Amino acid sequence: MQRHNIINLSLIELEKFCLELGLKCFKAKQIWNWIYCFGKNNFQEMTNLDKNTRKLLDHCSFIYRPKINNVHISKDGTIKWLLEMDDKSLIETVFIPQGKRGTICISSQVGCTLNCTFCNTGTQKLVRNLTTSEIIGQIFTVIDHLNDWPMGKTNRKVTNLVMMGMGEPLLNYQNVKKALKIVMSSNGLCISKRRITMSTSGVVPMIEECGKDLDVNLAISLHAVDDKLRDELVPINKKYNISTLIQACKKYPSLSNSRRITWEYVMLKDVNDSKEDAIKLVSLIKGIPSKINLIPFNPWPGTLYETSTSEKIKLFSNIVMKAGYPTPIRTTRGDDILAACGQLKSKTEKRKKSLLSSVH
Ligand code: SAH
Ligand code: SF4
Repeated sequence: MQRHNIINLSLIELEKFCLELGLKCFKAKQIWNWIYCFGKNNFQEMTNLDKNTRKLLDHCSFIYRPKINNVHISKDGTIKWLLEMDDKSLIETVFIPQGKRGTICISSQVGCTLNCTFCNTGTQKLVRNLTTSEIIGQIFTVIDHLNDWPMGKTNRKVTNLVMMGMGEPLLNYQNVKKALKIVMSSNGLCISKRRITMSTSGVVPMIEECGKDLDVNLAISLHAVDDKLRDELVPINKKYNISTLIQACKKYPSLSNSRRITWEYVMLKDVNDSKEDAIKLVSLIKGIPSKINLIPFNPWPGTLYETSTSEKIKLFSNIVMKAGYPTPIRTTRGDDILAACGQLKSKTEKRKKSLLSSVH
């Protein structure tokens, strides 16, 4: 018999599973509590379940944890995990501490089909969706490491989640949606929708769904202000162009000055960083409560792009800021551990290849 992976189940599904095993429905809530409040990954430690129940659950199911392939801790406190899935594929998860805030950057796919030209993840060959438990498992890994399970904690280290790791979350929407609903659950990890950000390169039809179902914060990877350049940098633009994307953003629910859309804009030297680009950006987002996140390009081996000069980035930021939009320049975190999307995995695979070629 195949054992059920409990982390793929919503609370309602867990209740159904318990009933099917002949257990009382309320047992599901107890199990849920042990898993999501205490971080237990072993039924034997669930002390309010009797011995036979524990044995039965062990026989029929398991509590998923991803395998840790590698951990890198940066001097600035950023931690990056390379996690190995059961099929041996590798994904990355990053924890970024910033004062009282602690953000987990979560992957949604192995690789990405969208092939943005400046993104290392887009160059990786193998692509598949992560399951709900593989998405939640990344959060478990971080909370285990930080010993930050909610039960009895007043100041939790993990406060925010961003879907900004490897992959396009809106192309794996069903699994991402289920995972986020589970982590928002008030009798579990209880991470509020206000502290969760969905980042998308612009899968327009799913933006509306995301607003309706999850109502989390929205970040759009814009990176270019005219269709010609965006078609090149973010190829999904050929399917959903800038004007379609802006229309979808205007309709996103409950936007206000305290709840803005974040526009991510990677600064590529002499490609998208001119004064004219900044002025055009301001006119594009007019009327939308917005914040612009300028990201200095993080170079990776083999890329043809370079990072804009800091003068250019400042000039760009000043223009957008003067128009009334907060425009933080993202400081590069975890520089010493290749913390940009997809980089640690690429490096590990290259090392594996060179090890293999030295064997043959
Ligand atoms: N697929 C989603 C989420 C993952 S990428 C998206 O594209 O939004 C998260 C962010 O990192 C995106 O804004 C992406 O454009 C940016 N990014 C990717 N590679 C980068 C690099 N080498 N340097 C800086 N930012 C990068
Ligand atoms: Fe995929 Fe996002 Fe990278 Fe583009 S930037 S290739 S959408 S992960």
